[in-house]
Amino acid sequence: MIPGPIEFAPEVMEKMGQPTISLLAPVFIESFGRCLEMMREIWQCPSGQPFIVAGSGTFAMDMAGSNLTEVGDHVLVVSTGYFGERYAELLKRYGAKVTLLQAAIGDVVPLEKVEAELSKGIYKLMTLTHVDTSTGVFVAPKAMADLALKYNVLSILDGVCSVAGQEIKQEEWGIDVVITASQKAVGVPPGLALVMASPKALSAWKGRNTPVANYYADWENWLPVMQTHQARGISYFATPPVNLIQALETSFELILKEGLEPRFNRHERLAENFREEMSRMGFQSVVRSSELQAHTLSTFFFPEGVVGPEFLKRVAENGVVIAGGLLPEIKTRYFRVGHMGIVNDEHIRRTAEAIKLALSAQY
Ligand code: PMP
Repeated sequence: MIPGPIEFAPEVMEKMGQPTISLLAPVFIESFGRCLEMMREIWQCPSGQPFIVAGSGTFAMDMAGSNLTEVGDHVLVVSTGYFGERYAELLKRYGAKVTLLQAAIGDVVPLEKVEAELSKGIYKLMTLTHVDTSTGVFVAPKAMADLALKYNVLSILDGVCSVAGQEIKQEEWGIDVVITASQKAVGVPPGLALVMASPKALSAWKGRNTPVANYYADWENWLPVMQTHQARGISYFATPPVNLIQALETSFELILKEGLEPRFNRHERLAENFREEMSRMGFQSVVRSSELQAHTLSTFFFPEGVVGPEFLKRVAENGVVIAGGLLPEIKTRYFRVGHMGIVNDEHIRRTAEAIKLALSAQY
């Protein structure tokens, strides 16, 4: 029950264990093509261009960031934790002039603050973290995306801890790039960076004056590969992670079979049930109010007198693995529980039970 890598469906793991076939095999090309098609459905972005590339979520951030920034571009990073700060550092490497709007711990940056920055008219790009895995804070992306549209700024949504677990309507909401990685709600072992670019993002990239500074991430190299696989043809830039892509096809099928609405509702219901249990036990959430709480993970302060590492060890001895803190400012004072992907009522019940037992053993 950590916030990624999560527990994976047996059908997905079966694909991981199959003999690795040629990247040129027609059956693999079909899988790749189907993944690209299903990705548009899951991101709810019918006119978007998907990119499926070997790499982790940080590489997905890198791909979006490096293709859309040139030296001297102004970028606004709206941060709700550790991963927002990471985006700021990453974009500086590409020569961006970064303004970081950092939320108070457990809170979001108010819309008025974001608007006050965007209205300066200097920004080319804005980044948001849908769910920051370090804090468990959820940002409602539509209102932020509306502001980006109003001021003609490109938007990148880091959906590493949300895609396929929380609703995203990329096209309707007008977000230019939504990125994720395979190991969270998408439900595939770590190793895939998944990036969906809007037509506007692609035309911004095409209009660059300078080459993309990251060779492996450059859409120049990847666009023909994606377009050719969509058309079920052969194209090579760098070796695709064959088993991971076949596993992705299976996981995407499972996601669409469940249906996006029912899947998002299940995540919401389980998150709420879990937090009710935790609040009954007296745990206090790191997130300041319930409408800012993610559906994919929960974060709680250790109660007074509880020794963090000892507590996490006891929970693990009770059969459930949960995660410690990540945000440096409060790292030793809180813990994180992931509940995404194939998570069900029984997982939630057993997690709450393991925590309850560990808590009683502390005193
Ligand atoms: N963004 C968010 C919101 C994340 O949760 C993570 C990983 N936990 C990343 C980016 C980076 O992904 P990765 O660890 O796969 O590089």
